[in-house]
Parts: sequence; structure tokens; C-alpha cells
Amino acid sequence: MAWPALAKASPLKRFEYSLPRMGTIFRIVLYAGNATLASEASSEAFERVEQLEQIFSDYREDSELMRVCRTASQSPQRVSPDLFSILQSSQRVSELSDGAFDVTIGPVVRLWREARRQRRLPEAEQLSKAKLAVGYRNVVLDPDDLSVFLKRDHMSLDLGAIAKGYAADQARMVLEKHGIHCALVAAGGDLSIGDPPPGAAGWDVEIRSWTSGSESESQTLQLHNCSTSTSGDKFQFLEVKGKRYSHIIDPNTGLGLTDSASTTVIAPDGTTADALATTLSILSVSRALSLADSLDQVAAFLVRRQGGKFITVRSRRFPPFSEEARHQASLKHPVSAPH
Ligand code: ADP
Ligand code: MG
Repeated sequence: MAWPALAKASPLKRFEYSLPRMGTIFRIVLYAGNATLASEASSEAFERVEQLEQIFSDYREDSELMRVCRTASQSPQRVSPDLFSILQSSQRVSELSDGAFDVTIGPVVRLWREARRQRRLPEAEQLSKAKLAVGYRNVVLDPDDLSVFLKRDHMSLDLGAIAKGYAADQARMVLEKHGIHCALVAAGGDLSIGDPPPGAAGWDVEIRSWTSGSESESQTLQLHNCSTSTSGDKFQFLEVKGKRYSHIIDPNTGLGLTDSASTTVIAPDGTTADALATTLSILSVSRALSLADSLDQVAAFLVRRQGGKFITVRSRRFPPFSEEARHQASLKHPVSAPH
């Protein structure tokens, strides 16, 4: 009797794709048995990102978000499950942080974007006017009919601090649906990470902290089945009279942060990691650490400017950086969190 031939497990090969979306570069690194599967799955993952950009963008006038901003102060507006879900997550982080994270920060963000273009600070009078339209408590979400109501006129929602983490997770879910579990999706500095590469304990993720001017220190973590985000003022900032203002705004003052250089968060999902990296940048070091420690499977690494120097602080669960992984990173799977 002939034994049926044992199906030979095809070795997994590494594939990599990238595409500019949501104002950053989306990068997919995956391991799959063949090139057709890898390329079909990643095209579908990029399509999902494109679909989300069309919902979340505050640069595209015809996005669902912009439509809601225009109409939801007149009457509650039914929205897509994606928009509802990300707004619910945003509200949760706002409550956890007592409003340090606030998606209604839009009018203030607009003034700072203009200020960065013109290289001057926003005018105080305009800032206080814009602040009147900010307040997460004025967003009413109704889960029964997936509707959004904005209690005040002139409100503007901004998902810039949370959308990329959500999109990275969604893109990776598409890969999972195709049976690809060993994958990493990076939306700039927001990473959604699956099973480790074959034979490795995890993905080598390089965390760069800027220690002075253009000097950077890079350290490597080995991660799998989690998400990580890094927020910082390395690329987006305004410098006036020697003071550096970040694109992250403290809703209490309406001002760009000046003391937070970068924050890296590890969390179970990308939405949480992205939102928390922004949030913990805003909170004082002690509040940031106690919030990180209070949340399940959350860890944070903070780099702050203090008296002309940089200090680094890690929360209780932040894993040790790996010397060995740092060496391997340049050889195997380098992935940078670019801030
Ligand atoms: P990056 O965009 O560089 O990944 P973040 O995730 O920290 O960094 O997002 C910063 C963006 O979030 C800003 O450009 C702005 O659109 C928005 N934002 C700024 N301050 C806040 C805040 N306090 N709460 C929510 N969103 C904010
Ligand atoms: Mg963020």
C-alpha cells in the first residue's frame, strides 16, 4: 500500500510593501508561503487603509468625518461603524485622562498648523476663541443607532492622534483573514504587530529617542502580538524664540507641548497605543506613569526635556531594551519608529 505523500510545508518567505497614506508611509512586512498570497493580501490591506482615510481624513473635505463636523451640530448623524468605534475609543481615552486627549481639539490644531506654516505663534485672542469649541463632553454618541451629535456650533473633530493606530490594526486584520499571522504593519510610528518572524522571539522594533539636536539614541525591543506607537516633536514643531512647540496640544492651555520630546507606548491594540502615546505626552510624568500602570498590558517610555537636558522614564511594565536584538536589527528585520 502506498502512503499518501506528506504535504511538504512550504517555507515562509519575507515580503515587504509600502504606500503613502494618511500623511505617512504605511509599511507591511509579512511572512507567507507564496508571492501571490502575499501580494493579494497586502493590496487588500492597503485598500482597507484607503477606505479608512476616506472616513477619517480632516484634509479631505468629502470625508465622512468632515461631513459629520458640518452637520452633526444641527441633528444627530448616523455614522459608519468605523467612525463610531474610533470616536468611542477616543471618548474612553478622554475620560481616562480627564480631557488631556480630546478629539474636539480641531479648531486649535488648525491655528497651530497655520502658525507652523507662518513660523509665528497663534494669536492669543484667536486661541481663546478656538478653545470655546473644544470639549469632548460636547460629543454625544448613541450606540443604539450609531449616531453622533455635537452639542456646540463650530466644533471640529480631529482624529490625527488615533487614526493611524486604528488603521494599522485594521490592515493587519485583513492579513489575518488571509491566514497571514506573521506580519507587522507600520503606519509611520504606529505599529501593529502579529506573530514573530519564523525562528525569532519577536520583531525587532527600534525606538529612537532624540537626546539633543539631531543626536539620536536608538534602542531595540523585541515585540509580538501587540501594538506600539511613538509620538514626538521631532518632525512637527514650531520654534519661536528658542522654544520648541510640538504639534501635540494641551487642551487646557491651547498651547503646543514644550517639554515632551517623545513617548513610546506598548498596548494590546493600535488604537489604544496611538491615543495613549499622545495622551501620556501631555500628562505630567507622574500622572502619565500612573495612568500607564493602571491599564492592563500597557507600558510607556517617556523622554522629557528638563532644564536643558533630556530625561527618560519608563513605566513599570516597559520591557528592557535588548542589546543583542539591536545588533540583529540591522541584519534581520529593521523597523523604525521614526519619531
Ligand atoms: P503623529 O501624528 O506624529 O503620529 P500623534 O499621534 O501624537 O503624532 O498625533 C498628533 C496629532 O493629534 C496632531 O497633529 C493633532 O492633529 C492631534 N492632536 C494634537 N493634540 C491633541 C490632543 N490633545 N488630543 C487629541 N488629538 C490631538
Ligand atoms: Mg497618537
